[in-house]
Amino acid sequence: SRKFFVGGNWKCNGTKEEVKKIVTILNEADVPSEDVVEVVVSPPFVFLSFVKSLLRSDFSVAAQNCWVRRGGAFTGEISAEMLVNLGIPWVILGHSERRLLLGESNEFVGDKVAYALSQGLKVIACVGETLEQRESGSTTDIVAAQTKAIADQISDWRNIVLAYEPVWAIGTGKVATPSQAQEVHTGLRKWLQTNVGAEIAASTRIIYGGSVNGANCKELAAQPDVDGFLVGGASLKPEFVDIIKSAA
Ligand code: 13P
Repeated sequence: SRKFFVGGNWKCNGTKEEVKKIVTILNEADVPSEDVVEVVVSPPFVFLSFVKSLLRSDFSVAAQNCWVRRGGAFTGEISAEMLVNLGIPWVILGHSERRLLLGESNEFVGDKVAYALSQGLKVIACVGETLEQRESGSTTDIVAAQTKAIADQISDWRNIVLAYEPVWAIGTGKVATPSQAQEVHTGLRKWLQTNVGAEIAASTRIIYGGSVNGANCKELAAQPDVDGFLVGGASLKPEFVDIIKSAA
């Protein structure tokens, strides 16, 4: 069975003071145990060590990106080795903001995922279609191609969480309906079953992201193939605790 997973993607937000406030709220929160829910927050790089040092030990941290290969002369980049060296267990890769704003291709994301895994990081790998793609009926093909580019590069799926984040739902307040989310999640699981293997398909967590909040999380969490969330805006607010609680 798949343990519920709740990630908080803070994106490019926060001051030291604000970060401290959020962490205090999380540290004081009464949430289901580690056996029931895995909680991972993802601050900007510069706050990673700070957050890691303050955060309760049953919660974990993720970087929001890392370089595609071994570090070196790549000004402004952060390597997977550095994250490992700092004891950062997780990294988010392939977020749509990076795919669309920074031009990361499916292949580049696949390479990143493979390299990060090879260094011992656990990966939250993001896929998702734009509104235009959904309206043209290509959602299934788009998320399959994004997933394939990852699957082509890796064989071990134990350290991967797949995040379905429809671009039209991110930061828009337009959350996918529970049945829309379930439909894509079950499609992704079938894709994994056909193309990767039944065991991996059954055990890989597929989480939903896009305008998840304290009010809509329960119904989404009740869908059989929704194994958790990747939360943006609401992960900076006290309601993130309610989202964690939707695991139980
Ligand atoms: P919002 O929850 O702000 O829509 O962002 C979702 C997201 O992109 C998480 O990675």
